[in-house]
Amino acid sequence: MEITFIGATRTVTGSLHLFEYNNKKFLLECGLYQGHREEAERINSTFPFKPREIEFVILSHAHIDHCGNLPNLTKRGFTGPIYCTPATKDIASLLIMDSARIQEADFEYLNKQRKKAGLPPKEPLYTLNDVDDVLKEFSTVNYNETFEPLPGLKCTLFDAGHILGSSIIQIEAGNKSILFSGDLGRKDMPIINDPYVASDIDYLILESTYGGRKHQSFDGIYNELKQLIEEGKKKHSKIIIPAFAVERTQVLITLLKRLYEDGILKNVPVYIDSPLATNVTDVFRNHPECFDEETYDLFKKGDPFNFPGLRYIPDVPASKRLNDRTGPMIIISASGMCEGGRVTHHLIHSIGDRNNMIIITGFQARGTLGRKLLEGANRVSIFHDRYDVRAKVYFMGGLSAHADGDDLFNYVSSLKDNRLKKVFLVHGEIDEAMALSERIKSRLNLDVDIPQYLTRVTI
Ligand SMILES: [Zn+2]
Repeated sequence: MEITFIGATRTVTGSLHLFEYNNKKFLLECGLYQGHREEAERINSTFPFKPREIEFVILSHAHIDHCGNLPNLTKRGFTGPIYCTPATKDIASLLIMDSARIQEADFEYLNKQRKKAGLPPKEPLYTLNDVDDVLKEFSTVNYNETFEPLPGLKCTLFDAGHILGSSIIQIEAGNKSILFSGDLGRKDMPIINDPYVASDIDYLILESTYGGRKHQSFDGIYNELKQLIEEGKKKHSKIIIPAFAVERTQVLITLLKRLYEDGILKNVPVYIDSPLATNVTDVFRNHPECFDEETYDLFKKGDPFNFPGLRYIPDVPASKRLNDRTGPMIIISASGMCEGGRVTHHLIHSIGDRNNMIIITGFQARGTLGRKLLEGANRVSIFHDRYDVRAKVYFMGGLSAHADGDDLFNYVSSLKDNRLKKVFLVHGEIDEAMALSERIKSRLNLDVDIPQYLTRVTI
């Protein structure tokens, strides 16, 4: 077996790994590289292999940095099956369509600018027309069921505990066993199960997003949110929570449902204002097989993602009507980094009032509006206008869906037996990967490699 590490090498985006077994090629993941436009265009449009030679793809989960370049792969000749769990298929379908729409809109704007400058138009990486070819290739596999995509090659998907449907991928050939973590989740998070712990693994390919960091614990989140809401009630605040449409929004809903049942949300309406988040929540309802015991019990009794006082906002006019309402109220809206979507309008209408609150609930990439708010900017630009930031900005760090340094280290520890020969760290900036690598080497005495772009290994 040969592995060529291509994407998410010493970075956290564009996951892509090429495997060769008995002269047949297959991919783990085909993620979109997200970054500055020109760099992203170059990386996403270049495959260092012929797409038509790829037999199949296995997908760990639906995040766009793991599946978002699939339409481009099919556009360039790939026609094989894409194996993933049923929940991953449903969420990935929504996210890939969303990604195509965003690209179409971006290029429409870009091409207007290019026309003014006398430049020829450019094509997006893919459009909605290209998405159908991908959706029909999805082939679903349940957790814990072994399938054999090539003679002698056994593959199994286990729950990664990261987002709904997320998987750890085990590949067995001959007497060798390789485990790919995908994005590894955390223990005791709401809705989904804890990450599966494998055994008898020879090689581990492990993500290292937060390899050198420690997360706030999830336990304190309920009280943190409760305190903010109590404060918001006194000040009649609009509480704006920018949130990722997948998992973060649903986790917030389950937390708010508990607060409602405990009487904290009396006279505080909650609005979910993101069409994508609403659609993704429907996918959650359709996949109770992915729920942990607590959520499954709730599901048997009713809807885990609804409670009196919660409203999913259907359309733009209803979204705009929220601007004229007075607080207290909670608006959960996308995008999670405040870079687009309906949340930008809510920010425009609430950012200037010191009684309002903005609760940041996740990682904010450099250069995004969310990051600027988090860093305490006094004035920010939204759609070419400048706004004073008077609303209180809070960071709630305990909601991360990724394992932290301790979780990753403990995961490797749990796999360490006489078989584990080597760990490859991917999907992490070099500092994070190095921190984890040093810890694994010194404390577990294991061989660790941090592959670079096109590092090739034979195992
Ligand atoms: Zn992910």
